[in-house]
Amino acid sequence: MKITGIDHVGVAVKSIRERRRFYEKELGLRVGQEIEFASGGIKLADVDFPGTKIELLEPASEESTIAKFLAQRGEGIHHLCLLVEDIEAALAELGGQGLRLIDRTPRLNPHGDKIAFIHPESTGGVLLELKDKKKGKNRASFKNSVGVLMTKGRLTRVLLEERKRRPR
Ligand code: ZN
Repeated sequence: MKITGIDHVGVAVKSIRERRRFYEKELGLRVGQEIEFASGGIKLADVDFPGTKIELLEPASEESTIAKFLAQRGEGIHHLCLLVEDIEAALAELGGQGLRLIDRTPRLNPHGDKIAFIHPESTGGVLLELKDKKKGKNRASFKNSVGVLMTKGRLTRVLLEERKRRPR
């Protein structure tokens, strides 16, 4: 398995709107558009830096894994995302070593990247996300697999427009 860097750090927050002020006013960073998923019950917004980012995660429903995390541990660092060269091979290798995988096969994030999570039980308490280095190649299949994205933010509108142009 080849890990090529840290893609982002996921941070659970009660309210992206509330925390946006901290990142923008106090730290002078730019927080991107808020995106909400119909599936998954999560709202997210990226804080961009050169080379990496912070992913702010807010629960969109009571059943959301982020809601459970906040109830148990409060706001704070939720996961660490590592970039890998071949995510299928990495999962096979880690699974073969007996690590507890949350995803045995990759799922797709809203940008169409292949991702998978490793359980904190196997990593010393850190929820690890792996992300395939090949960026955004799978956007079309993400649309097909998820179906509906709720619109909030630019990315979502682009995806929906693309779906309109190429109906299935
Ligand atoms: Zn993440």
